[in-house]
Amino acid sequence: MRLERRAPLTSTIRLARVTPLQPVSVKRRAENRERHKVVHATFGDAPLCRAPGCGRLADDIHEPLTRGRGGSVTDPSNMVPLCRTCHGLVQLGPPWAYEFGLMAHSWDGGDAA
Ligand SMILES: [Zn+2]
Repeated sequence: MRLERRAPLTSTIRLARVTPLQPVSVKRRAENRERHKVVHATFGDAPLCRAPGCGRLADDIHEPLTRGRGGSVTDPSNMVPLCRTCHGLVQLGPPWAYEFGLMAHSWDGGDAA
Protein backbone atom coordinates (compact mmCIF):
# COMPACT_ATOMS: atom_id res chain seq x y z
CA MET A 1 0.00 0.00 0.00
CA ARG A 2 1.40 3.34 -1.02
CA LEU A 3 0.91 6.39 1.19
CA GLU A 4 0.00 9.59 -0.56
CA ARG A 5 -0.48 13.05 0.83
CA ARG A 6 -4.04 14.32 0.44
CA ALA A 7 -3.51 17.85 1.72
CA PRO A 8 -0.58 20.05 0.72
CA LEU A 9 2.09 20.84 3.29
CA THR A 10 1.39 24.26 4.74
CA SER A 11 2.83 26.07 7.70
CA THR A 12 0.63 27.82 10.21
CA ILE A 13 3.69 29.32 11.90
CA ARG A 14 4.72 32.80 10.82
CA LEU A 15 8.34 32.30 9.86
CA ALA A 16 9.37 35.90 9.27
CA ARG A 17 10.44 37.72 12.42
CA VAL A 18 9.28 41.25 13.10
CA THR A 19 12.51 42.15 14.85
CA PRO A 20 15.80 40.53 13.82
CA LEU A 21 17.64 38.33 16.28
CA GLN A 22 20.45 40.10 18.08
CA PRO A 23 23.80 38.31 17.83
CA VAL A 24 24.49 39.24 21.46
CA SER A 25 21.84 39.86 24.10
CA VAL A 26 21.48 43.29 25.68
CA LYS A 27 22.54 41.83 29.02
CA ARG A 28 25.65 40.21 27.54
CA ARG A 29 26.53 43.40 25.62
CA ALA A 30 26.42 45.43 28.85
CA GLU A 31 28.54 42.77 30.57
CA ASN A 32 31.07 42.85 27.71
CA ARG A 33 31.33 46.67 27.96
CA GLU A 34 31.99 46.43 31.68
CA ARG A 35 34.55 43.66 31.09
CA HIS A 36 36.36 45.80 28.52
CA LYS A 37 36.65 48.66 31.02
CA VAL A 38 37.83 46.35 33.82
CA VAL A 39 40.44 44.70 31.59
CA HIS A 40 41.94 48.05 30.53
CA ALA A 41 41.85 49.44 34.07
CA THR A 42 43.46 46.30 35.49
CA PHE A 43 45.98 45.25 32.84
CA GLY A 44 46.53 48.35 30.70
CA ASP A 45 46.92 48.35 26.95
CA ALA A 46 49.64 45.74 26.48
CA PRO A 47 49.51 43.04 29.15
CA LEU A 48 51.99 40.21 29.00
CA CYS A 49 51.13 36.52 29.04
CA ARG A 50 51.09 35.22 32.62
CA ALA A 51 51.74 31.59 31.73
CA PRO A 52 54.94 30.38 33.39
CA GLY A 53 57.96 30.89 31.15
CA CYS A 54 56.15 32.77 28.39
CA GLY A 55 56.01 36.56 28.68
CA ARG A 56 54.78 37.31 25.16
CA LEU A 57 52.14 39.99 24.60
CA ALA A 58 48.76 38.67 25.71
CA ASP A 59 46.04 38.17 23.13
CA ASP A 60 43.23 36.97 25.38
CA ILE A 61 41.90 37.42 28.87
CA HIS A 62 41.38 33.98 30.32
CA GLU A 63 38.93 33.16 33.13
CA PRO A 64 40.33 30.44 35.42
CA LEU A 65 36.79 29.81 36.66
CA THR A 66 34.67 29.82 33.53
CA ARG A 67 31.26 31.45 33.35
CA GLY A 68 29.68 28.03 32.93
CA ARG A 69 31.18 26.94 36.24
CA GLY A 70 29.98 30.00 38.13
CA GLY A 71 32.88 32.37 37.40
CA SER A 72 32.52 36.05 36.65
CA VAL A 73 33.83 37.59 33.44
CA THR A 74 33.96 41.06 35.02
CA ASP A 75 35.83 40.15 38.21
CA PRO A 76 39.53 41.14 37.93
CA SER A 77 40.47 38.31 40.30
CA ASN A 78 39.11 35.87 37.70
CA MET A 79 41.11 37.30 34.77
CA VAL A 80 44.51 36.21 33.53
CA PRO A 81 46.10 37.68 30.39
CA LEU A 82 47.42 34.92 28.13
CA CYS A 83 48.85 34.74 24.64
CA ARG A 84 46.80 32.72 22.15
CA THR A 85 49.21 29.77 22.24
CA CYS A 86 49.20 29.49 26.03
CA HIS A 87 45.44 30.07 26.17
CA GLY A 88 44.93 27.10 23.87
CA LEU A 89 47.16 24.94 26.05
CA VAL A 90 45.55 26.07 29.31
CA GLN A 91 42.05 25.39 28.00
CA LEU A 92 42.97 21.75 27.51
CA GLY A 93 43.02 21.61 31.32
CA PRO A 94 46.45 20.12 32.05
CA PRO A 95 47.36 19.60 35.73
CA TRP A 96 50.00 22.35 35.61
CA ALA A 97 47.31 24.91 34.68
CA TYR A 98 45.54 24.12 37.96
CA GLU A 99 48.83 24.21 39.88
CA PHE A 100 49.65 27.70 38.56
CA GLY A 101 46.13 29.01 39.19
CA LEU A 102 45.33 29.33 35.49
CA MET A 103 42.40 26.97 35.87
CA ALA A 104 40.07 26.61 38.83
CA HIS A 105 37.65 23.88 39.80
CA SER A 106 34.03 24.92 40.31
CA TRP A 107 34.33 23.82 43.95
CA ASP A 108 37.20 26.30 44.49
CA GLY A 109 34.55 28.99 44.84
CA GLY A 110 35.82 31.56 42.37
CA ASP A 111 38.83 32.87 44.27
CA ALA A 112 41.28 31.62 41.65
CA ALA A 113 44.34 33.34 40.22
ZN1 LIG B 1 51.95 32.70 26.54
